[in-house]
Amino acid sequence: MEAEVDVARAHAPAPAAAGEAALRALRGSLRGDLLVPGDPGYDEARRVHNALVDRRPALIVRCAAAGDVRAAVLFARERGWHPAVRGGGHSVAGHSVCDGGMVIDLSPMRGVRVDPAARLARAEGGVTWGELDRQTQAFGLATPGGIVSTTGVAGLTLGGGVGWLVRRHGLACDNLVAAEVVTAGGEILRASADEHPELFWALRGGGGNFGVVTAFTFRLHPVGTVLGGMVLYPRGRAREVLRFYRDFAPGAPDALTTSAGLLTSPEGVPLVALVACWAGPLAEGEAALRPLRTFAPPLADGIGPLPFARMQRLMDEAFPPGRRNYWKSDFLRELPDAAVDAVVEHAARAPSPHTAVLLESYTGAAARVAHDATAYPHRGAPYNLHLFAAWTDPAGDAGNVRWAREAREALRPFSTGGVYVNFLGDEGEARVRAAYGANHARLARAKRAYDPLNLFRRNQNVRPEG
Ligand code: FAD
Repeated sequence: MEAEVDVARAHAPAPAAAGEAALRALRGSLRGDLLVPGDPGYDEARRVHNALVDRRPALIVRCAAAGDVRAAVLFARERGWHPAVRGGGHSVAGHSVCDGGMVIDLSPMRGVRVDPAARLARAEGGVTWGELDRQTQAFGLATPGGIVSTTGVAGLTLGGGVGWLVRRHGLACDNLVAAEVVTAGGEILRASADEHPELFWALRGGGGNFGVVTAFTFRLHPVGTVLGGMVLYPRGRAREVLRFYRDFAPGAPDALTTSAGLLTSPEGVPLVALVACWAGPLAEGEAALRPLRTFAPPLADGIGPLPFARMQRLMDEAFPPGRRNYWKSDFLRELPDAAVDAVVEHAARAPSPHTAVLLESYTGAAARVAHDATAYPHRGAPYNLHLFAAWTDPAGDAGNVRWAREAREALRPFSTGGVYVNFLGDEGEARVRAAYGANHARLARAKRAYDPLNLFRRNQNVRPEG
């Protein structure tokens, strides 16, 4: 079992004592706010999605504009601090908050601008997927994002970004056209295919290592009504359902993205769910989805036409903020019956009813991108396995963590060896390297070029090398 590392503590809190005069000067230079412990709003601002993470920064810079981000970066840099950077606050490892030190909080930066003629949308660094979808959907357009609407556009895109359009239009980062970035040196750069192309490459899968992104510009696609929803089967049929999923999901038409989940209903009934989103002509979708709805008699079939923005909120209730979360994830190269058995057996032993085991398949359009075209390297892995341990009572911490670790160990023989960076906890250097895979060395060179002092290290860290 790998060692777990607490990045927030390993990099020691920066001193709270920046000095009154320096703090006054920083506060005076900001359009946004500066919060210190005891200020109204401080506790809310330090809270993140995962309640297992409870940290107290010395300063939270609530940025209102790129200039505020720059001021915060320079302030931290002058003092040798390593700021945490917060977009949507959904890092399960809690990388967007720290004990002591500074949080550069982009959550006040919520602007979205859609250019329907050019099919582009610009989202500031604190925007959530729900907010971006609402604006793009007003024009019948969308860009691929995540499956829970409260998740931040920033962290999700910088790590890759998978969701209901992944097989149709690729990852979120595949649809990034440009990013505005405050570098570790305090420069404000625009990165795109033509401007700082190596930075642009690194931002598309390299996580928060290369600077603070204050705005993202995405390519949009026409996406209106989709055919989507959930088909529920009794947990007793889980083996059959997962074998079906194994054979069906990776080779489905590109318009169809699916997942299979072992979960418990709010009433306490263990279920297995197939969740689907068809983003194509609806008549063709009916035929494409038929096998998924008919291979065995379901308990309930909730699939039907729905606005894409609603599809994007379908999973929200399953992932509310404020629960304690400990997640493990691995790409699987195959899913033989022995792996299916292990998934089903471990899911049955989960100590908490909030825990879910999910299988996804990021094939289709996402898999046709070369592994080195962007920094996200895991193109073509047929399945991604998620062990989402979630619970509410702190007394359950040890048991739930143990469950996730044991389940991962059981499934590890089927892994590609790779892990998706956005679902990684603080799991040590070997797992960070597994997340960046074959692109790690190039990322380390980009890190040396754009952040040679490793100012931005409260993340799945790439150290400057090369
Ligand atoms: P934060 O915690 O704010 O940031 C995460 C990381 O990104 C940190 O290292 C942070 O420093 C860095 N960062 C944040 N903002 C910036 C910025 N503006 N500039 C530079 N660095 C920045 N992933 C998917 O791909 N698909 C999903 O469907 C999906 N669903 C999820 C659902 C839930 C409920 C949760 C908790 C996570 C989910 N994830 C999903 C994982 C998600 O992509 C990562 O947790 C991601 O890091 C969240 O981004 P954030 O901005 O909300 O997080």
